[in-house]
Amino acid sequence: IDYASYLKGWIRAVPNWPHDGVMFRDITPLLQNPKTFRMLIDIFVHRYMDQKIDLVAGLDARGFIIGSVLAYELNVGFIPIRKKGKLPFTTVAEEYELEYGNATVEMHTDACKPGDRVLLIDDLVATGGTMMAGYHLLQKLGAEVVEAAAIIELPELGGAKLVRDDGLSLFTVCS
Ligand code: IMP
Repeated sequence: IDYASYLKGWIRAVPNWPHDGVMFRDITPLLQNPKTFRMLIDIFVHRYMDQKIDLVAGLDARGFIIGSVLAYELNVGFIPIRKKGKLPFTTVAEEYELEYGNATVEMHTDACKPGDRVLLIDDLVATGGTMMAGYHLLQKLGAEVVEAAAIIELPELGGAKLVRDDGLSLFTVCS
């Protein structure tokens, strides 16, 4: 069985959402089916189980769903990288460009310490801006980002290439 193309079949393409001209990749069917959810998580578990990962950092919000399950399976802790204004303790912040305007992500200053081997995870890489913002936050705290991982990369936007060209290893299950 070709896991990548099988799982891809469980991702729904929704045209013109959240606005006209956008084809939104909706992973809820994949998560809803226990077999494909397990298949997905197992791909990540097998890839990272021997990589001496200390922490999984998940990006708000779908990165939390897969990241927390993966952290549990790897028997490591989970740290949330959240959109601005959600975290209660002292934070580090990173601003990045969106299609229209800017966005900011934040992480607690004690979320990780220098030298921690962190796996960064989100559901999807489009322009790569979100993943790079998470990467820069982790770097600010001195973490060693082992790899960035996502379910899907959208190659037509060039974001995955940008991430890789910036020196961050990126693993995706399908494109
Ligand atoms: P980027 O920063 O342009 O790479 O966009 C990636 C971020 O936006 C991720 O956090 C995704 O969850 C979200 N995103 C962008 N496009 C989609 C999509 O088609 N499906 C699901 N999430 C998306």
